[in-house]
Amino acid sequence: MHQGEAGLSAYIIEDGLVEITLEKDNGMIQNLGTRGAGTIIGEMALIDKKPRTATVRALEDCVLLEITLPDFQRRLDKSDPVVRMMIEVILTRYRDMLHNSHLMVAPGNIHKSEALEQNYLEKSKTIDRLKMEKDLQDAFSNQDLMLHYQPIFDIRTNKTIGCESLIRWKHPEHGFISPELFIPVAEESGLIIDISQWVLKTACQTLNLINQTPTINNDIFMSINFSSVDLADKNFKQNFINITNKQNIDPSRIHLEITERLLIEDPETTRETLNECHDQGISISIDDFGTGYSSLSYLHYFPINVLKIDRSFINNINQDQKTKDIVLSIINMAKTMGMEIIAEGIETLDQQETLKVMGCPAGQGYIYSKPLPKEEFIAFLLQNNRDT
Ligand code: C2E
Ligand code: CA
Ligand code: CA
Repeated sequence: MHQGEAGLSAYIIEDGLVEITLEKDNGMIQNLGTRGAGTIIGEMALIDKKPRTATVRALEDCVLLEITLPDFQRRLDKSDPVVRMMIEVILTRYRDMLHNSHLMVAPGNIHKSEALEQNYLEKSKTIDRLKMEKDLQDAFSNQDLMLHYQPIFDIRTNKTIGCESLIRWKHPEHGFISPELFIPVAEESGLIIDISQWVLKTACQTLNLINQTPTINNDIFMSINFSSVDLADKNFKQNFINITNKQNIDPSRIHLEITERLLIEDPETTRETLNECHDQGISISIDDFGTGYSSLSYLHYFPINVLKIDRSFINNINQDQKTKDIVLSIINMAKTMGMEIIAEGIETLDQQETLKVMGCPAGQGYIYSKPLPKEEFIAFLLQNNRDT
């Protein structure tokens, strides 16, 4: 394109399609064809997902470079999270500028300003998410993530029979961040696969430490949370076995915890992976059981060893007869099917007593212990689980 040429234009010809033309020096119009939404020409003449009419003028002779949206997205996906964040900021500002100029034309338009506010909120959420992704990546690389362990106990004897590993992240500015906030970010970015392998390795190391501590009854199992992204990875089982082998931990001491929802999302793949793991002796544990709105028939379909009754049921067990009936049915059904049962979130003596009367064998919750850092957990075991 030659200096001074103003003829590169993009016109919307129908929703999602733009026609690009180049007006030559001699006045001839050359049709460069149609492009999809988001194509970028000139200096970001079209950067949005929605096509706009735009014209660019060449300040000097230049080569015309065209970047399609998939092209752009592919490169963006591969880029560093900070670069991605910066581009998001630039695009947000650019869009807001366009919005604002629109508002000046119609200043009294309340819906537009609400839409603009909503737009800001959504953008700032995206930016927060990207920032969290970057911080989490750093925390993981700098070994700032930690595991806490919550004891799981025998309701009749009050002895610890196992524990659940729960991840902790202390952010340098924001303090502790709930895993319920950052695990979804880790899942979306794929970082969860590395994190979960680290969790498994660290939890195995803790089991070894327990084994080496004299006077603790060291038969306890370790429950570890895995997500759908982990299970969808075709190397999941092999990586799992490699880690437990390397740490010299029998896979049967690990309970692989997944939520009931995950079983419904992708039953075929999940079943295949769970069967492979089960064949290696790993126990399969269903977390938050009762919240997934699934049919009970699927329980036969998967190799399930343990049902963990969600804490929302335990919370209401003495307030609501229906909840009580449901919990009793779950316990009896699990027993019929040869599954173990763990009640989650036991907070009061009343709840513990009701569960004991119902024949619930095991539980977990603040009444017994909060999740503890490794050293405190071992001290807890020394108090509560002595061999003698
Ligand atoms: P979850 O698997 O259902 O874990 C139990 C959660 O309940 C933990 O919260 C625990 O601190 C809390 N809790 C335990 N006892 C009680 C109680 O008596 N009352 C109440 N109100 N809460 C209790 P936390 O540690 O914040 O973990 C939240 C969720 O984050 C976990 O829910 C799990 O879904 C996820 N998560 C934690 N660690 C990991 C991990 O290493 N990997 C994956 N994929 N997810 C994890
Ligand atoms: Ca869990
Ligand atoms: Ca749970």
